[in-house]
Amino acid sequence: MVKKRLISVIYLLVFLGILGVGIGKMWGKGREAKASFFAMDTYISLTLYGKDGEKAVLEAQEKMTELEGLWSATHKESIVYALNHSGGAPVILDDETKELLRFAVSMARETEGALEPTIYPVLLSWGFTTGENRIPDREEIQDLLKYVGYDNIRIHGKEALLPSGTQLDFGAVAKGYAGDMLVELLRERGITSGLLDLGGNIQAIGSKPDGSSWRIGLRDPFGDGYLGVIEASDLAVVTSGNYERFFVGEDGNVYGHIIDPVTGCPADSGLASVTVIAKEGKVCDALSTALFVMGLEKASDYWREHRDFDMILITEDGKIYLTEGAKSRFSLNNSYEEYKWELIGER
Ligand code: AMP
Ligand code: MG
Repeated sequence: MVKKRLISVIYLLVFLGILGVGIGKMWGKGREAKASFFAMDTYISLTLYGKDGEKAVLEAQEKMTELEGLWSATHKESIVYALNHSGGAPVILDDETKELLRFAVSMARETEGALEPTIYPVLLSWGFTTGENRIPDREEIQDLLKYVGYDNIRIHGKEALLPSGTQLDFGAVAKGYAGDMLVELLRERGITSGLLDLGGNIQAIGSKPDGSSWRIGLRDPFGDGYLGVIEASDLAVVTSGNYERFFVGEDGNVYGHIIDPVTGCPADSGLASVTVIAKEGKVCDALSTALFVMGLEKASDYWREHRDFDMILITEDGKIYLTEGAKSRFSLNNSYEEYKWELIGER
């Protein structure tokens, strides 16, 4: 009798134990941890689900602040600032910055200089870093373009060397690169579901906690709303557009922050925005900026040659051009249904 009762108690304890672990797991999985802060010149918002999400989100925020400290062109303590003011002397790089620099140079080569990590002197002359915008004259731009060219960058072992006058700007790639680093860090901490929004650079970890895809809004480049929704899991979705940062000159023209390295002037390629969808944030970030500079025709050719990413291009005249893979993820919002769209296919 006593033995029977003891066995029942053991069964009950085992049952309660299993129930406890189950509830614990569900609770851990469904729990949301959030952080919103300002870094890399933009609002960042991280939403994570999983056990220890609170700890992970703080670690991610710290990492982001650390990377900003390294890669900001304006912080006087940053490695980029040191490079830009080295007067042609070699500068020792940490491993992360060296990898980012190598990546930026390789993408500059791949996009034939549409991505130009040494565009900084020109960007400065337009006042995009200070907010004191102005329209530099032709001569000034031509003078500054002499210092622009990714071929000027030398990397030897741990050191990098920029000729005097050449200056770096990681503005087009740093957020994507940092996003990938955060995704890696968070996965190591056991996060299997989350959404990182780094000022419009979206990086999805896994799917939503209920297993469905993340729904990412595509900004209307001509207004405040969202044109539609992109469904994505385990992907990065990055948009570039001159609408993100621009000024209206005394001549009444609109000047945007993405510079065409050939002219030294804001890119005027007929595109209003470029969204790139791919596994890695760094690739999306580099490409969205470069394809914006290229314009519809060249960007479409670039995609035809590579095909390892998807994209949505919106032209200044309000038409959507997208790859098959992007179309399968994208749906227009009701209020934009009159928008015309076209698939980017073979030539
Ligand atoms: P994104 O928002 O990723 O398209 O990056 C735009 C930022 O990259 C600008 O604010 C500049 O800091 C920098 N930038 C502008 N034009 C270029 C270019 N052609 N290549 C590389 N970086 C650029
Ligand atoms: Mg970019």
